[in-house]
Amino acid sequence: MTQIDYTRAAKYFLLADFFSAMKLGMKYFFRPKATVNYPHEKGPLSPRFRGEHALRRYPNGEERCIACKLCEAICPAQAITIDAEAREDGSRRTTRYDIDMTKCIYCGYCQEACPVDAIVEGPNFEYATETREELFYDKQKLLENGERWEAEIARNLEIDAPYR
Ligand code: SF4
Ligand code: SF4
Repeated sequence: MTQIDYTRAAKYFLLADFFSAMKLGMKYFFRPKATVNYPHEKGPLSPRFRGEHALRRYPNGEERCIACKLCEAICPAQAITIDAEAREDGSRRTTRYDIDMTKCIYCGYCQEACPVDAIVEGPNFEYATETREELFYDKQKLLENGERWEAEIARNLEIDAPYR
């Protein structure tokens, strides 16, 4: 004669497994979501995030870059190409500033080497292209990036300044 397991039978008729699953479900329902609805929502970014490159200007519109070529020299991927000449006022400026973004490994050495915070890696990480040629950045493109992201870049540099 088979023995009746009363405990198991009581759990079965009182829907114990169902209510325990509901309890677990409701616990996670009210917790903060672990996922975001990208691209409408985005996660937080560190001020040290190394994204798309940009060349900055001073508030008066003058280019920061003094064509010292330290960034070109330190780049381990040899992705930066600079030509420079002296202006009539004696200051030295670049006539060409190219970055081959297909070579760049986003190490941030160019930004670290720059004595005037001219070349920086901004917070933009959404710049996928359809062609390889679009990733050959010239000076014009880099200066436009600087103008577009100046507020965020300046804020990130300010936050990071005490640790540099
Ligand atoms: S982030 Fe690194 S690899 Fe890219 S351009 Fe700057 S120094 Fe070169
Ligand atoms: S971006 Fe900075 S490191 Fe590079 S050439 Fe200009 S001033 Fe020098």
